[in-house]
Amino acid sequence: MISKRLKRIADYLVDPIYFADIGSDHAYLPTFVCSNNPLARAIAGELNRGPYERAVQTVKEHNLENKIEVRQGNGLEVLTVGEVNQVVIAGMGGKLIKKILEEGKQKLDSVSRLILQPNLDAPLVRKWLHLHSYEITAEEIVEEDGYIYELIIADKVEKTVQLDEISFLFGPFLLKEKGDIFQAKWVSELGKRKRLVKQMEKATNTPDEKINHLLHEITLIKEVLDDDI
Ligand code: SAM
Repeated sequence: MISKRLKRIADYLVDPIYFADIGSDHAYLPTFVCSNNPLARAIAGELNRGPYERAVQTVKEHNLENKIEVRQGNGLEVLTVGEVNQVVIAGMGGKLIKKILEEGKQKLDSVSRLILQPNLDAPLVRKWLHLHSYEITAEEIVEEDGYIYELIIADKVEKTVQLDEISFLFGPFLLKEKGDIFQAKWVSELGKRKRLVKQMEKATNTPDEKINHLLHEITLIKEVLDDDI
C-alpha cells in the first residue's frame, strides 16, 4: 500500500501525466500513478545502485515496463530536454532538492509543474522556486508515523508574485491555513530553537550572528503561533 504522503503527492499530478520521479527509491510513486491512470507515463530516476535495482524490480513485478522507465543517474541528468511535463522530488533535504534543481535547470524547459517534498530546509526550496519563475500554487502538510512532511506544488509562470520572509519560512498557503499539524510542527520548531539558543549562549565561541538569526526566527514563530511565552 502506498504511503499517505506519496498518495497526496500523486494527487497533485495533472493530466496528461508524463512525469519524472527523481530519487524514486522503490519506484512506489510511479508504480501507483501508472497502475491507476492508464495514460500516465513516468521516468524513475535513481542515483544509487541499490535503490535503482529496487525500482527496476518493482516496475517488473507490476508489469509496467512499457509505462515506467527506470534510469540511473544524478538528479535531472537522467532526463533529456522536453521529455516530461512534471517533476517530483520527494523525501530529501531541501538543500539537496535545491542543488538538483539548480544543476539541472536547463532540463526544466518543458516542466510546467514541480511537486517537491523537502524533509528539511523548505525555505531554501521556496526561494529557489521564486527566483526561477515557479509560483507556489498549493502546499500541504501531512503527518505520518510521527513525522511531519511539507509538500510544495509550484507551476511555471512568466513572473512570480513577491513573497515576504514569513511566507518563505512558513509557506504561503500553510500560513493562511495554520492547521493543527502546522501548529504542532512550529511548536516543536520553537522548542528546538529555544534549546539551541540556550546551548549557544553557554558556549563562548558561537558567533552573535547565529544567535541573532535564531532569536529573529523565534520572534516570527511566536507571532505566527500567537504565542507570548
Ligand atoms: N522519493 C522517495 C520517497 O519520497 O519516498 C524516496 C526518498 S529516499 C529517502 C531518497 C532517494 O533519493 C534515495 O533512494 C537516494 O538514493 C536518492 N537520491 C539521493 N540523491 C540523489 C540524486 N542526486 N539524484 C537521484 N537520486 C538521489
